[in-house]
Amino acid sequence: MATERLVTLAQFRTQIEQQRVSRQINEIVVHHTWKPSAADYRGIDTVRGVRRYHVGVRGWSDNGYHVMIGPDCSIFLCRPIARAGAHVAGRNAHTIGVSFIANFDHEEPTGYRGLRAGQQAIAALLERFNLGLNAIRFHREFAPKTCPGMKLGLAQFRREVGEVQGRGSRVRPKVVLLPESSVIECDAVVNDGVTRAALRPVVEALGYRIFDHRAEQGKLYLRRRQ
Ligand SMILES: [Zn+2]
Repeated sequence: MATERLVTLAQFRTQIEQQRVSRQINEIVVHHTWKPSAADYRGIDTVRGVRRYHVGVRGWSDNGYHVMIGPDCSIFLCRPIARAGAHVAGRNAHTIGVSFIANFDHEEPTGYRGLRAGQQAIAALLERFNLGLNAIRFHREFAPKTCPGMKLGLAQFRREVGEVQGRGSRVRPKVVLLPESSVIECDAVVNDGVTRAALRPVVEALGYRIFDHRAEQGKLYLRRRQ
């Protein structure tokens, strides 16, 4: 079954946000294809070739990876992330497999334009599943392989995904308007068109109290006052 699809980063974000995923996702496992290498890359035909190999030779139901990244920055959706992949023995149930079309044992990541695209896709997956940078794992941690290539270092890779996150729109607060209106006194200042107001008086005037504040997720948990 052909499921691969070339998407932009924005489409990738929308896709993963809209997909219902009932399995628990704990980790993103990074791979390289080794063969085909970046030099072998022929666009989506290469992705189809990988799927045909996984289905025809390995006997899997679909491409073993959920996401593949081309050296030209292409992002390919492969196996739906709702379904467990076939990319890391003994660890498929709760992971997502992202594979760079490259051989990073020999090809230089610094000359690989798709590296950043892959890191942006991984940053989006971390955000979608509320995972930290430590949830990024390399295949070689779990198998006697070099995957995703000895020219990639895990610590640096995680750091670079963190840099991508810092620049992205990771925190998207939502504003909810209530049907009633009332005057609430709190300190507020308007700066460059942005209103900054002390939140606690507003929250308490609405009959709630602040239960938990997870700034890194952009989430404020309120509990109705008894
Ligand atoms: Zn691998």
